[in-house]
Amino acid sequence: MKIAIIGAGYGGMAAAYDLKKAGHDVTIFESADYVGGLASGFKEPHWNWSVEKFYHHWFQSDSEMLGLIRELGLEDKVRFPRPLTVMLYKNKWYPFDSIFKMALFPGLGWGINKIRFGFVGLFLRLTNNWRALEKVTADEWMMRYAGKQVYEQMWKPLLIGKFGPYYKDVNMAWMWARIKARTTRLGTFEGGFQKFADLFAEKLREQRVEIRLGARVESIKQEQAGLSVRSDGKSESFDKVLVTSSPNLMAKLCPDLPENYLKGLLELKSMGAVVMTLALKQPLSKDGYYWFNVPKDEGYPFLALVEHTNFVPKENFGGDHIVYAGDYLELGHEYFSMSDDELLERFIPAFQKFNPEFSRDWVKKIWVSKTNYAQPVPLVNHSENIPEIQTPIKGLYFASMSQVYPWDRGTNFAVEIGRKAARMMK
Ligand SMILES: Cc1cc2nc3c(=O)[nH]c(=O)nc-3n(C[C@H](O)[C@H](O)[C@H](O)COP(=O)(O)OP(=O)(O)OC[C@H]3O[C@@H](n4cnc5c(N)ncnc54)[C@H](O)[C@@H]3O)c2cc1C
Repeated sequence: MKIAIIGAGYGGMAAAYDLKKAGHDVTIFESADYVGGLASGFKEPHWNWSVEKFYHHWFQSDSEMLGLIRELGLEDKVRFPRPLTVMLYKNKWYPFDSIFKMALFPGLGWGINKIRFGFVGLFLRLTNNWRALEKVTADEWMMRYAGKQVYEQMWKPLLIGKFGPYYKDVNMAWMWARIKARTTRLGTFEGGFQKFADLFAEKLREQRVEIRLGARVESIKQEQAGLSVRSDGKSESFDKVLVTSSPNLMAKLCPDLPENYLKGLLELKSMGAVVMTLALKQPLSKDGYYWFNVPKDEGYPFLALVEHTNFVPKENFGGDHIVYAGDYLELGHEYFSMSDDELLERFIPAFQKFNPEFSRDWVKKIWVSKTNYAQPVPLVNHSENIPEIQTPIKGLYFASMSQVYPWDRGTNFAVEIGRKAARMMK
């Protein structure tokens, strides 16, 4: 079969790998001039490693991702350092990177709240019944079972940070999946995520997968036999097509999809993201912390501050200290239209809260990455509203972050859904 894949993110590349191995003729169309999609990165000439445009790491539980890396023979390049994650309470940062340290977090108070935190955590780790949990919002469930103090200190900031105005609408299965599937050890690839994506693309090319970079697909149309893909003003016929873009884009690319499938795509909600990466002359955290969970109601202008060089040594970046400041935001938020310098001016007073000595002249360079589609929002009974991977148009398949469920989206699940789509196409 002649197969087209739209998108050279982790999902598209994983699907291409399996389809090619099964003997099909595979072409990937990628609008960007690089592979890796949302997990791609960039590099300054004096850096040995790239940094991700949007901060990324793997969990030890990312079995699909780590399994694929093993299949590609690249497992010796995976690193699991032990960075420090912290949470704010009364203007002080407390360790937050193991269940034990979370239990000691003073924001929980003592006595009954600690016990409720422990029982809720244990229950969520043990249960597999996410279908019951998706019928209720995380806000309602946590208030009822974890109690007001535990919820407001531990879980509500996470929900608000990720989902902003939708935080009360997110279902409890999402929260369950976060707690169930994530380990506290965090991993990365030697050279950065872009290095992995480039090595993966190299293997695909060796297998004779054609990867067309800078090839934006404009439309996909049904033909008498097969599908026609239009890119750069030219149309080409394929037996099957897999799209890995956002649901909105899928709806635009294929307006011939039946009305109820299109409606389902357009009704899915998601958040965008804006992430600033800074190269600094000095470290920001005096204590060597990696990940600061920043509660939005404390007035910080971002959700997470991540000092990447407390995870990956600064020597890989020519001695630069790399810091990310990022947030998940609804479309139309002012950060999407602010210039990089305006955003930096907004963030500088907050950087001084992390280190009072921080000053503007520590900043060597900044980069700001923005995406409209960063985090799907799973509402109550989301499983009933997920578009099928096999669309009603014969030969046309769709695999996006919005169909990853009940797990929270991530490169691990992009690989999983890409491979699942490939199995269905085969
Ligand atoms: C802020 C942030 C932090 C994250 N942190 C982590 C993390 O720590 N760990 C983790 O595992 N995951 C993380 N993720 C999630 C992870 O990046 C995604 O789940 C994963 O990269 C999705 O892969 P994908 O292939 O499904 O989609 P994408 O990576 O979005 O790939 C789709 C591709 O399609 C291309 N495309 C779109 N339209 C067209 C068109 N018309 N024609 C041709 N090509 C097109 C795009 O350019 C893109 O390359 C994070 C994401 C964000 C935004």
